[in-house]
Amino acid sequence: MKGSRYTGVMAAFHLTKTKDVHYLHGGLTEALDLSPLVAAADVPLKLNLGAVTQINSVGTRTLGQFFKDLGARPLELHELPGVLVELLNVFPQVFNGRQDAVQSLYAPYLCDSCQEKPELLLRRQELKVTTRGVTAPLRTCRRCATPMALAVEPDDYFLFLL
Ligand SMILES: [Zn+2]
Repeated sequence: MKGSRYTGVMAAFHLTKTKDVHYLHGGLTEALDLSPLVAAADVPLKLNLGAVTQINSVGTRTLGQFFKDLGARPLELHELPGVLVELLNVFPQVFNGRQDAVQSLYAPYLCDSCQEKPELLLRRQELKVTTRGVTAPLRTCRRCATPMALAVEPDDYFLFLL
C-alpha cells in the first residue's frame, strides 16, 4: 500500500458486509470508525471479528464507546481473535457487559507430538463452564492426527466466562 505507514499484516481498518454479517478487518486503531454499525438496522447486529489484527488504546476507547452506544441492542460477536479475548479478560467494562454476545472465538492449541501451534476456532457452546472453571474441547492435530489440548490455562484464557 503506497503512502501508508501500515505494511504487511498491519492492514488499515475497514468494514465489509456479506449477507447479514458485518466483518471488521485490520487494526482497531486511530482509523477505527464504527458509526456505520451503530446506524445499521440489523437485528441482531452480527459482527465477525476474525480478521482483526491488533488494537491500541485509541481503538480500545472507540470500541468502548461503541458498546455503550449499542446499549442492550441484540448482538452477536463471532470469531473473536486472541487480542480481543485478552482485552475482554482484562478490561471487560470495554464490552459493556456484552460477553454474552460472544458466539465463537479463537484459542491457541498445542500439539505435544509435533509442536504444531494453531489458533483454532471454538464455538461458545463447546466450552463447559462450571463452578470448577472452564473446560475446552480437545482437537485433532491436522499435521499428525494426535489429539491436542489448549496451549494455555483455560481458566485464564476464558476468564471472561467465569
Ligand atoms: Zn501434531
